Amino acid sequence: MYQLNRKIAGLRAYAPGDSAGCVRLDANESFLSLPGELAARLGQALGSLELNRYPDPAAGELCRAFAGYYGVEPGHVTAGNGSDELISVIFQAFLEKGEAFATLEPDFSMYAQGGLLAEARHVPIPKPGFAVDVEDTIARCREEGVRLLIFSNPCNPTSLVLKREQVRRLARSLDNTLVVLDEAYMDFSGESLLGEEEGFDNLVILRTCSKALGLAALRLGFAVANETLTGKLRAAKSPYNVNSVSQALGDMALAEPQMLRDARETILASRGELLAGLERLSEELPGRFRILPGEANFAALVMEDGGTAQQRLLEKGVAVRFTGGLLRVTCGRAEENQAFLEKFREVLED
Ligand SMILES: *Cc1c(COP(=O)(O)O)cnc(C)c1O
Repeated sequence: MYQLNRKIAGLRAYAPGDSAGCVRLDANESFLSLPGELAARLGQALGSLELNRYPDPAAGELCRAFAGYYGVEPGHVTAGNGSDELISVIFQAFLEKGEAFATLEPDFSMYAQGGLLAEARHVPIPKPGFAVDVEDTIARCREEGVRLLIFSNPCNPTSLVLKREQVRRLARSLDNTLVVLDEAYMDFSGESLLGEEEGFDNLVILRTCSKALGLAALRLGFAVANETLTGKLRAAKSPYNVNSVSQALGDMALAEPQMLRDARETILASRGELLAGLERLSEELPGRFRILPGEANFAALVMEDGGTAQQRLLEKGVAVRFTGGLLRVTCGRAEENQAFLEKFREVLED
């Protein structure tokens, strides 16, 4: 009889909640759809793609468009089928069986999965009060011989941000550790290390088109690192990992910096409304929840029974996420934020 090995036996598929028909504030996506004019041009561009041919394995045009928008060297960029794919490529390539990797918990759940499949040893470092203690992290990583440290900044699910200087300190102090800095939400904050990758031989920065850029369906992620690391990432990924449709559409969207910046401003305004509404609610119902002071496109709430609140909200037609001990609420359109605030008040009041 065929026996599953231990690492796969306990593995479960990533299951986003069932939010069909709900107000969807559970996945940190953008609530904005593409402007009609760009959507029309994208439709036209599709007609001229040679779908019988393999895509460009290096996704050259796309990487140049990304580099142009973010002001980095195209030679430092590797494109992936979402940053999820790059996370798994990094674990497969930069860790050997049994080597240690560290995460700063709570953080994005895909990191632990990547390490499990790479047969690496997980060193979860807890964050008391949800904030990273840089010196403690350095000490723990040294004690445990950590070869790869991965964390999101701003953090999902806490929304909290580490300052640039703290991230630099981590990367400089852990000089034989690959530091993977997941900046999935950095468009909403101002502490990016993009452009500094040349100065570190142990730093990989991840970015995604799924959050601020509003293109989650295209599955586009990027790794930014010095040329040596970039060469290895390009060698380790599967050759045709980003399909031609996503390459073409991503390329066109990234060539519209004003559109992308406007979208970000709209999302930031929505975040402001959501947080203001939550603050009013927390003044009316003191002690029921606390808002972490973050910089992402979601609110992270500390509260008793967050799991129950998430379930009750879902019953009322509003999908949010309970993860890492926090109730995480993505900002949405004005009426979606209103719907959440109304239902959340009902949940808290009865
Ligand atoms: C959403 C998210 C990602 C996933 O990005 P994709 O490019 O859509 O795969 C990566 N990291 C963090 C921290 C995220 O929250």
